[in-house]
Amino acid sequence: MVGIHEIERAAMRIGGVVVETPLIRAHRVSEWIGRDVFLKCENLQVTGSFKARGASNFVLSLAEKQAANTAVAGVVTASSGNHGQAVAYAAKRVGLPCTVVVPEDVIGVKEEAIRGYGAEVVRCGVTSSERIAYAERLALDKHLVFVPPYDDADIVAGQGTAGLEIMRSLPQVSEVFVPVGGGGLISGVSTAVKSLAVESSHATRVVGVEPELAKDTYLSIQAGHAVDIGPTSTIADGLRTSHPGSFTFPIVQRNVDEIALVSEKDIFAAMRFLFEAKLVVEPSGATSLAAVLKAHRDGYRFTGPVVCVLSGGNVSPEVFSGVLR
Ligand SMILES: *Cc1c(COP(=O)(O)O)cnc(C)c1O
Repeated sequence: MVGIHEIERAAMRIGGVVVETPLIRAHRVSEWIGRDVFLKCENLQVTGSFKARGASNFVLSLAEKQAANTAVAGVVTASSGNHGQAVAYAAKRVGLPCTVVVPEDVIGVKEEAIRGYGAEVVRCGVTSSERIAYAERLALDKHLVFVPPYDDADIVAGQGTAGLEIMRSLPQVSEVFVPVGGGGLISGVSTAVKSLAVESSHATRVVGVEPELAKDTYLSIQAGHAVDIGPTSTIADGLRTSHPGSFTFPIVQRNVDEIALVSEKDIFAAMRFLFEAKLVVEPSGATSLAAVLKAHRDGYRFTGPVVCVLSGGNVSPEVFSGVLR
């Protein structure tokens, strides 16, 4: 179970390891839709994404438990993306050895980023299930602890600290838009937002955002149970999960008011818009603003201040320049 107390404890724990990101008013969008729109800039978080929050909370909790009982030889995970960098960063900060399993065809700059945080990189297979199986075997053989990307209480509580910061800066917020992959970010953020909104007897809607090409959580909510959509091809690489997490999905079902869908074109347009606002945001991170722009275009009227969580900024120059063109 993750509640507001677990999220507050996570915020204390990771305070010195991650940063409080700025909440910036988006002037042009605000004028356009007639309501204040604020951007929660996790693209400016350490490691370039919110994933540093959950990974740091997981690794620091582990270090606390370790102090209390048995020794852990290190941590291991399976991700060439933002989670891999976040775990490598967090492990380095607490001085734990870290191994990251990446695909054989990993992009050079991603491998370099992970190595840059001092982690050992191991190449294995091309599918994520091959890599996870290998990482779990390494965990058993070498007494390492596997760090899951989203389906875990400490990860969710860490991601929730972004929601805590939003509610402390803007308690009157009426809607919060959050990108959804496996659901760790929105589970944490929605728990913080709903708990603190109730405390201030204020109703805040939480809207999850998925690409039309990867609408596994949207379909799962309609079906009433988790469904698997198989491999997906959206440019939003952080949202390509094929099914919601078993830990996160019930939290999403309970807390999330709506799942909005955006097209690839909507994502490109939002990235260009953010570039003009001097913000470099990766495709996954721009989906929240894409959904706000789309809702306005479709005639939806916002009733108060809106927050878009810009979940990350790790985009290669090749992809970014392609989008701008
Ligand atoms: C991982 C990630 C997401 C999705 O987060 P989940 O916790 O898997 O839902 C969204 N945006 C970015 C930039 C990410 O790295």
